[in-house]
Amino acid sequence: MSLTFNFSGKVVLITGSSSGIGAATAVQFSRAGANVVVTGRRADKVSEVAKECLKVSPKQSKALEVVADVTKPEDLRRLVDTTVKHFGKLDVLVNNAGAGVFAKIEGKDFYDKFQKAMQINLNSVVYLTHICVEHLEKTKGNIVNISSVAGKRAVTAFSPYCVAKCALDMFTKCMAAELGPKRIRVNVINPGPISTEFAAATGIPQHILDKHRQDFVAKMPISRVGESEEVGDAILYLASDHAAFVTGTNLIVDGGVIAGWCADLNELTLTIPE
Ligand code: NDP
Repeated sequence: MSLTFNFSGKVVLITGSSSGIGAATAVQFSRAGANVVVTGRRADKVSEVAKECLKVSPKQSKALEVVADVTKPEDLRRLVDTTVKHFGKLDVLVNNAGAGVFAKIEGKDFYDKFQKAMQINLNSVVYLTHICVEHLEKTKGNIVNISSVAGKRAVTAFSPYCVAKCALDMFTKCMAAELGPKRIRVNVINPGPISTEFAAATGIPQHILDKHRQDFVAKMPISRVGESEEVGDAILYLASDHAAFVTGTNLIVDGGVIAGWCADLNELTLTIPE
């Protein structure tokens, strides 16, 4: 089930839309009439999602496909320039690309991993925001950032990711304050566990992930993982005029993880291979 929205004529750029939450969101925006930009590093996945967007677009609007790595500023500049050249403007920026990075503080490659996590989950958002402001000011547009419940609570051996997402929450609030006078709204969503490629992309063996997720979910107030579309609905809401008076807020979409976070959850330790 999906909420109904009208983004007819709006141009929406969603980073990390080659899979998971970003892919579902691109399809949801397309269904609601938006012209979407689908992007990620995997060209084949970007094309697949663009095809799905075309199938549901009420005016058969073709998605713009851009293969780009968000950790490369030159790719981000090309992404924005291509978008504005192709569609003429930008109304909504969804900073969704991200990756989980596990590392223990005493590990020998800790600092490299920490920097990698900051680059993917934080620096890319900061730079993209910096270069999109001039376009969003023209359209009185808005930004939706995708953080995590891990930005709100400490998780053992997950500090690179937790710190990056926590900083993203604060960056969102700073930008809401700074860009409000330009009529640009900036909000952030903190998802809980969502069924995507995210966990597998951390490189932790599947059987360890499966066991951890099973134990985790059993302790959640709503004892199931979420679906990408459930985060997508929240993204569309924040990007829409229904949220015209909402800026600088965290919308937690987590099946009750934060509300129910307790000793039980803290006791669950994910054993990561050295
Ligand atoms: P997926 O792994 O399915 O999607 C991640 C997306 O980010 C992919 O499209 C991937 O594209 C893209 N991406 C990753 N690294 C880069 C890069 N260097 N350059 C460009 N694109 C990149 O995971 P989710 O859909 O779950 O993740 C989306 C967001 O949700 C992330 O920010 C994540 O932190 C957050 N989140 C997810 C949770 C979950 O349980 N799933 C929980 C809380 C937050 P490609 O590989 O093609 O480059």
